[in-house]
Amino acid sequence: MIAKPQRMRPLEPAVIAFGSNLGDREATVKAALDDLAQTPGVRLDAVSPFLESVAVRLDGVDEDAPRYLNGVALVSTALDPHALLDELHRIEDAHGRVRVERWGDRTLDLDIVAMGGRQVHDERLTLPHPRASEREFVLAPWLDVDPDAELPGLGRVDALLAQLRASAGSEDVAANGGAS
Ligand code: ATP
Ligand code: CA
Ligand code: CA
Repeated sequence: MIAKPQRMRPLEPAVIAFGSNLGDREATVKAALDDLAQTPGVRLDAVSPFLESVAVRLDGVDEDAPRYLNGVALVSTALDPHALLDELHRIEDAHGRVRVERWGDRTLDLDIVAMGGRQVHDERLTLPHPRASEREFVLAPWLDVDPDAELPGLGRVDALLAQLRASAGSEDVAANGGAS
């Protein structure tokens, strides 16, 4: 009997943001990206340069906390969004991620920023990631690997980043009382 060919789901593009602010950040991130590349149903297409960013806690920016190493990976995946999230959690766990407090320090954080044009809203997953458009450490590296990137429902990433930088700049001016 001839075996039926397995029906493969078509590959969909997904954008994954990574961050680490504990331990050997660079080694952890590189090992996690290797794990991602080895995950069945996931093809790693591009990785942005890494950048440093200041930690943000629930009560705001914390200059004293260890800084983050952040970046973005572009993948193509045959997994559905929840299965991809499961894989990201597995990789976080493998790198010593401990879930203590929300936005606390961590060896590794892997978020799905977007997956094609999908909109998902359930108790486990929101797509696109609801805070991506407020985060320079997501938008800037994403733009590095995809100059035409778009955040579904919100528009072009270059425009969103320009907006974010403009509003951060006007906050600085306000904080300084407009003095130069
Ligand atoms: P933030 O979501 O603001 O970046 P965080 O990454 O620190 O915060 P976590 O503690 O890592 O938050 O994740 C909490 C839960 O968020 C996860 O267990 C997951 O179920 C859920 N979640 C919802 N949407 C997403 C998404 N797009 N990517 C990753 N996790 C998500
Ligand atoms: Ca996160
Ligand atoms: Ca997360």
